[in-house]
Amino acid sequence: MSNLLLRNVRPWGGETVDVAIRDGRIAEMGANLGAGDLPQEDGGNALLVPGLVDCHTHLDKTTWGMDWFENTENATLQGRIDYERDNRTALGIDPDRQSMRHALELARNGATHIRSHVDIDTDHGLAIFEGVMRTREKLADVIEIEIVAFPQSGLVKRPGTAELLDEALSNGAAVVGGIDPCGMDRDPKGQLDTVFDLADRHGAAVDIHLHETGELGAFDTEEILDRTEALGLQGKVTISHAFALGSLPEARTRALIDRIAKLDVAIATTGSPNASVPRLLELKAAGVRVGAGCDGIRDTWGPWGKPDMLHRAEVLGMRNGFRRDQDLAYALEVCSTGGARVMGRSGHDLSIGSVADLCLIDAMTPAHAVAATAPRRMTLKSGQIVVRDGAFTQDNVVMP
Ligand SMILES: [Zn+2]
Repeated sequence: MSNLLLRNVRPWGGETVDVAIRDGRIAEMGANLGAGDLPQEDGGNALLVPGLVDCHTHLDKTTWGMDWFENTENATLQGRIDYERDNRTALGIDPDRQSMRHALELARNGATHIRSHVDIDTDHGLAIFEGVMRTREKLADVIEIEIVAFPQSGLVKRPGTAELLDEALSNGAAVVGGIDPCGMDRDPKGQLDTVFDLADRHGAAVDIHLHETGELGAFDTEEILDRTEALGLQGKVTISHAFALGSLPEARTRALIDRIAKLDVAIATTGSPNASVPRLLELKAAGVRVGAGCDGIRDTWGPWGKPDMLHRAEVLGMRNGFRRDQDLAYALEVCSTGGARVMGRSGHDLSIGSVADLCLIDAMTPAHAVAATAPRRMTLKSGQIVVRDGAFTQDNVVMP
């Protein structure tokens, strides 16, 4: 565990302080601290925030660093799922290499935590999951990766998938995923009973992709909330995307959000520009835990996105029509502490005693950082500097 005196940083853009780190945790914060036996590092008066957190991505899907993937399909959701499942191996989307590239790019851009959904289906078995698990182990000192066992191709309609999820949850997956219980499986009871039973038996968290809009999405949201309540899973369930919350009449939305807050269900959003995303300030006002993710980055689904949570904060700000500095700062908070809270890491902050998972940004204020996608000066994991000026500091950390 690391000891360090980080000189000249500005927590969330406030006054310049020094941060003393002992045994990987923030031990003291104040102006002109004595160094004692601590090695020193100059923070260059950078903005200091808790490490950025991508709480919804897919490390197993990206073509990042490969030849450009020419997308000639104009497929439906089901078409994109089928194309990827049938072609990913032939295209050379190696789960070990690609998850390593994706995770390291996130770390280089200031992230310290990732929640990644990983495809599990009856064609590939656990092969993709095992590749991402190897990346997770190799990067344990660089970035924390939490894996969602994700039935991308459906659960009920592909017998054998539930058994594979079960096995993944016994072998390192911390979260069980689901997807559009009506649209994907046409069996909401079947999918959700299976997902929640797996969570209950493994003590796992739940994170369900819900693209369904309007009343269909509201129906599935209520089915998720009912099971959360019945099994006492408050604080352990996330709804990803939650497009229903951006596509219903106001009173209906408010009632759903109130119940989401009451049951401490989290929302993971991507701020997708072409979808009815939930409105951040409504969720904030209700006290809902909200995090954000880059989702798929440059994959067979689409060419967009960057493995950079500050870029994602910009997308969130633009999609939500933010103009005020305080709202831009909230977008950054969602991409930092917010994501950690979605993952159940409540102490991800700049308090004395917190783990020193930190990101230094060359910006004047949080709002400036978001609007400018400002350069990252450093990423620290448990007090260890893992990235300095865009370069990894450890010899064994190399971009494949
Ligand atoms: Zn996703």
